[in-house]
Amino acid sequence: MDSLIIKNILRDCVLCPRECHVDRTSGKRGYCKTTGELVVARAALHMWEEPCISGKEGSDTVFFSGCALGCVYCQNRNISKGLAGSNITIERLAEIFLEFQGKGANNINLVTPSHYVPHIIEALNISHKNGLVLPIVYNCSGYEKVETLKLLEGYVDIYLPDLKYMSDEPAMKYSNCKNYFTVAAAEIEEMVRQVQETSFDERGIMQKGVIVRHLTLPGCLEDSKEL
Ligand code: SF4
Repeated sequence: MDSLIIKNILRDCVLCPRECHVDRTSGKRGYCKTTGELVVARAALHMWEEPCISGKEGSDTVFFSGCALGCVYCQNRNISKGLAGSNITIERLAEIFLEFQGKGANNINLVTPSHYVPHIIEALNISHKNGLVLPIVYNCSGYEKVETLKLLEGYVDIYLPDLKYMSDEPAMKYSNCKNYFTVAAAEIEEMVRQVQETSFDERGIMQKGVIVRHLTLPGCLEDSKEL
């Protein structure tokens, strides 16, 4: 995916189910609050992801700024809503992936990546050409578009989505989101279709698979049970 294709996608952005149709290349911001610039809040070895992702060596975790879901209880709200972070180039992101491979990370862990999918694909193209072989983890809120996920086919080894709500009431109340479950169910089906198998290396570190997470919220126990 070259820079012209990326620009064309971002000119009328429908990357996530919010489908804002804004021109992010002109500096306009949609619901996720991001423009066409790639903004990263943190890139570091992370030891506290799911044990089969982090292992002892850690996961090279890149926290992307902005978020298309925007939950009221977000633990990273200064990143997701406050847009804390620095502008970096796609080439620098590719370098970061390779630097962490050199430090022994188990995988590349992309956190809240949905609104930067075109940038990420281009960075992966560059880093793969330069020797990146680590599994790629797509770590997301569970609010993705199937069409956007299809762009990632062949790039992602492990999908790590949340599955937050079953009914619309908590989804609207806490994430301003209608039809969360319908969207999430379709996307998880697509993730499973792409990955097809689950595999681990001899240390128990996941190489391929889909892990679905659920956070039980206060007052939402019945929704959790139904889910
Ligand atoms: S990625 Fe951002 S601008 Fe694009 S549709 Fe989603 S919320 Fe809107």
